[in-house]
Amino acid sequence: MQTSDIYSPVHTLSLPLLTNKGIQLDVKRDDLIHPFVSGNKWRKLKYIVQKANRENRNHFVTFGGAWSNHILATACLSAQIGYKSTAYIRGEKVQNPVLQLCETFGMTLKYTDRESYRDKKNIYNEFHMNDPQALFIDEGGYSHEAAQGCEEIMMELDQHYDHIFCACGTGATLAGIAKGAESYQPEALIHGVPVLKNGAFISDSVFQLYPSIKEVTLHLQYHFGGYGKTKPELIDFIKNFCSKTGILVEPVYTGKVFFAVMDLINKGYFKRGDKVLIIHTGGLTGFLGKYKLFAG
Ligand SMILES: *Cc1c(COP(=O)(O)O)cnc(C)c1O
Repeated sequence: MQTSDIYSPVHTLSLPLLTNKGIQLDVKRDDLIHPFVSGNKWRKLKYIVQKANRENRNHFVTFGGAWSNHILATACLSAQIGYKSTAYIRGEKVQNPVLQLCETFGMTLKYTDRESYRDKKNIYNEFHMNDPQALFIDEGGYSHEAAQGCEEIMMELDQHYDHIFCACGTGATLAGIAKGAESYQPEALIHGVPVLKNGAFISDSVFQLYPSIKEVTLHLQYHFGGYGKTKPELIDFIKNFCSKTGILVEPVYTGKVFFAVMDLINKGYFKRGDKVLIIHTGGLTGFLGKYKLFAG
């Protein structure tokens, strides 16, 4: 997993709103890195794999909901590098295309009631404590290694931006971007759009990973009801955006950050001449869980 192996170009959008407001809006296409080890999940696993290699562990044990992009990424990557993978899925047994892909990549799935799921370390200790090959990976991959992988996104940019945005679930990606920006995008303001309700905790998870980070700006009003929740306004936005740009965004993560940036542009949040970058963190299988909302 070398950075030089990946394909993640920057594309400049051309839309009437951007011309009217005099804004340059670029997209870092991490969604193009891989169909399943997608976007920030590739970034987040890169140094976790190195850690596993160092410690001679070849069995990833991780956690998530039934539509988790992180679990799918872990399943596919494990298959690529010849590792075993086990995932504890929150809630009762269900079937869906994402879990089916995980099993097809050879992952073992264990369904866990919501109560026991809360204590992930306990589950790990109970079932994997005596397995010297096992490596605990937290929900969503949240870790120092994950943030370290995301720092490299900033290193790959060849222009300076005034504002850089990403969608946030655990905040590890935002933390890495903010850290990487200290060296490579020193003028940029770093913004996060939490996709869950009460997303203010994201600043704590950023500072927990990097206590030295001075400032990130969170936009808390774009969660559309919470994690995995949508509103017709978001679906309409996504349909329109995808049909005007050919870039696919989905309702769980990237649809919310693109909506937020377009809304902020509309409201005059940026200055004429500002250069704005959105990190497209991938995760397009989120679309599969919501495709019915796009009908009609
Ligand atoms: C997991 C995910 C995120 C959230 O990343 P965090 O590091 O947990 O904040 C954002 N976008 C997509 C597409 C994701 O799959």
